[in-house]
Amino acid sequence: MHINIQSAISLKKYNTFGIEEIATNFIEITDPIQLLSAFEAGIFEKDFLTLGGGSNILFTKPYQGYIIKINIKGIQATTLKQDIFITASAGEIWNDLVWYCINNNYNGLENMALIPGTVGASPVQNIGAYGTELMNIFYSCVAFDTLEGVFRIFHNEDCKFSYRDSIFKSEQKGRYIITEVTYKLDTLPSINTTYGAISKELENRNITNPTIRDIAEVVSAIRVEKLPDPSTIGNAGSFFKNPIISLEQYNKLKELFPNIISFNMPNNQIKLAAGWLIEQCEWKGKVIGQAGVWKNQALVLINIHSATGNEIFELSSKIINDVYQKFNVKLEREVNIF
Ligand code: FAD
Ligand code: NAP
Repeated sequence: MHINIQSAISLKKYNTFGIEEIATNFIEITDPIQLLSAFEAGIFEKDFLTLGGGSNILFTKPYQGYIIKINIKGIQATTLKQDIFITASAGEIWNDLVWYCINNNYNGLENMALIPGTVGASPVQNIGAYGTELMNIFYSCVAFDTLEGVFRIFHNEDCKFSYRDSIFKSEQKGRYIITEVTYKLDTLPSINTTYGAISKELENRNITNPTIRDIAEVVSAIRVEKLPDPSTIGNAGSFFKNPIISLEQYNKLKELFPNIISFNMPNNQIKLAAGWLIEQCEWKGKVIGQAGVWKNQALVLINIHSATGNEIFELSSKIINDVYQKFNVKLEREVNIF
């Protein structure tokens, strides 16, 4: 099947940071079969990068290989007793899928409303927000193996999901191109309002018995209030992961910093709020050149107007260094750096 290779394409509109870098080659995939053609043409023997919505990527230099932009569309639902299996193509917009489910009364995606990006990227970092993670609803995905030139099916346990991580972001990073994802949902709602500001916002709206639509609307409203809109201020959401440390290390920190924000995790581990750590190092709202730290959430780095990827990256290094000096905790970048 035909593939169209475009040359010297600006990546500015393909990454939510709005970084101006050039891709030497750019291929848009609208049908999974085109991946076979690309394989036969030897494209995957060269440098390539699979691109969805570019909302978790920072370009720090021109991309000299092939950008493989995934734009495969389609959503299908199948009902089996009380389970609903939704299969969505990788190029579908995640938030469109969330609203497709809400409009059809399928439960499970509502707490993840308004996360930017595509369906194909959703398993890569096991996206999550407001107490739900993708791994809770992920059934399987189809992915093209760029080494072997075949399509493979990954079930939930194959993906080695963990906090903001999966096999596609760790040991097999870059190898597989996800073409479709199947989610297993429920027709019986199990509303989750315990996280962050959800219950407070429901109270403000006098909602005592929320539906999944209420949850999605409330989550979307909180997000719009708290996060910069990438269409006006370039960003990639949380730049860092929340660090997970041992109980022992936490107890030492708690003695030194009694107000430290923390959450219990399985296996005696503790999750720290990275935003709080950064704030304590007085980075919130600070700007260096064209790169800045968002005034309402210190986890989010922003492109003031015309930042280079390197300016953002250097700012992130300074923050990692300061947090390490103060708390002896090493922040990890969540955003993929290229
Ligand atoms: P891209 O940025 O294009 O790619 C991300 C990674 O996935 C890259 O390594 C890429 O190679 C790989 N990839 C992309 N598509 C495929 C594919 N089809 N097959 C294989 N690999 C692929 N994330 C959260 O988890 N929770 C949040 O609440 C959240 N909020 C955000 C808020 C804002 C304002 C922004 C800008 C970002 C936020 N993010 C959040 C991060 C981002 O939205 C997610 O990581 C999202 O899943 C990225 O999707 P994408 O299509 O833009 O991926
Ligand atoms: P928040 O509500 O101010 O909370 C700060 C941090 O505390 C969050 O990172 C969250 O961890 C954690 N948290 C809050 N309530 C919790 C609870 N009941 N149990 C366990 N952990 C709790 O956070 P926010 O910045 O406004 O973000 C809200 C949600 O959207 C979070 O889930 C966040 O992950 C998600 N989000 C993600 C991105 C991204 O790019 N990855 C960007 C924006 C928002 P978790 O992050 O582990 O959930």
